[in-house]
Amino acid sequence: MHYHAFVIKYAEIGIKGKNRYIFEDALVKQIERVLKNVEGTFNVTKVSGRVYLEAKDYDFDETVAALQTVFGITGICPTVCVSRDGDGKLPDPAGISKKVIEFVDGVYPDKHKTFKVKCRRVDKSYPKDSQEMDRDLGSDILDAFPEMKVDVHNPDILINVEIREQLNIFSEIIPGPGGMPTGSAGKAMLLLSGGIDSPVAGYMVAKRGVEIEAVYFNAPPYTSERAKQKVIDLAGVVAKYTGRVKLHVINFTDIQMYIYEKCPHDELTIIMRRYMMRIAQMLALNTGCSGLVTGESIGQVASQTMESLLCTNAVVDKMPVYRPVIAFDKQDIVDISLKIDAYETSILPYEDCCTIFVAKHPVTKPRIDIIEHHENNLAERIDQMIKTAIDTDEIIEIVK
Ligand code: ATP
Ligand code: MG
Repeated sequence: MHYHAFVIKYAEIGIKGKNRYIFEDALVKQIERVLKNVEGTFNVTKVSGRVYLEAKDYDFDETVAALQTVFGITGICPTVCVSRDGDGKLPDPAGISKKVIEFVDGVYPDKHKTFKVKCRRVDKSYPKDSQEMDRDLGSDILDAFPEMKVDVHNPDILINVEIREQLNIFSEIIPGPGGMPTGSAGKAMLLLSGGIDSPVAGYMVAKRGVEIEAVYFNAPPYTSERAKQKVIDLAGVVAKYTGRVKLHVINFTDIQMYIYEKCPHDELTIIMRRYMMRIAQMLALNTGCSGLVTGESIGQVASQTMESLLCTNAVVDKMPVYRPVIAFDKQDIVDISLKIDAYETSILPYEDCCTIFVAKHPVTKPRIDIIEHHENNLAERIDQMIKTAIDTDEIIEIVK
């Protein structure tokens, strides 16, 4: 079947009242963005409470795959359109019936299905009203395909027929990613490591319409270029959905060495994490982000017990820390990682700055007062080191 357009369905953005246009405009902008990378001629419009995409000379699979990366879209409906003739007329009822029968025949080779016709007559000058059309088209379909059956409550196929500026026929709804369109919320700073959890956390927050900026703490020469490349690739996974991610690569080596030298080794990870959070918050404040995002999950490792989370959380005082996978089991996180094509990259076995300096027996119940006391050992040089780390921030723009 050759489709001329797609009706784009969106759920939540439909209910935003007066602000609805902001969400629709963001959605249109994101659709236009992803289609720039797809061959074809496209035209996206907002018409009476819906987004409509006309498509010419395009590849169907590529177009659908691109639309499936646009947050805010809940359904993609491939649509057959019939334009008005030279006199501005749509086909008469018999002509519409012929088109609908062709549509059903083309889209559903197996006719052993139940169906329902749902007409919408936006052009009220059309001679028949919607209910008459439902009935008449239904009986025409039954005449053409006796194997088919009507089921008005729970049909296998819901055949939508719309009489608007043109005639639209669609039935299939290909699922979109859901969520809210990128650019309809603010911006957050994602602490992005090379692991499985943080790219998933970034994806989940991005799905709510939030733009993502990311920070990776790098420890050369203990961590390699390929470990860094892995993080760039993972930022690219999020950027596939949001269009761009600005990644800050912070050289963390001196700070880590200093902590290693001055603090008890069983507290290294917690203290390092606290400095990561502090620096991430500073970067967030400098770049207009209004929250941090991490891939932490309760109990996953020593640095993510409730007591450890209390310690790492305590240093962030100017914004919320969003932890979308906090209560997820690892397998649930892996499932999302697989779905968004991050997993294969996340499991590449490259060293991480945390694993290099990790203690054999890290504390699992750190006490905040003791941690703070040991951090006093860093008083002499740490502020300067943080400043240097931020001043030498390497910014990598990932644009999709
Ligand atoms: P991930 O799979 O995201 O690496 P993890 O299970 O390995 O998570 P940790 O290493 O304890 O967990 O890290 C917890 C969180 O701290 C990460 O999800 C990430 O948000 C942040 N984080 C850890 N290491 C780094 C790093 N080198 N750079 C940036 N953020 C980091
Ligand atoms: Mg990690």
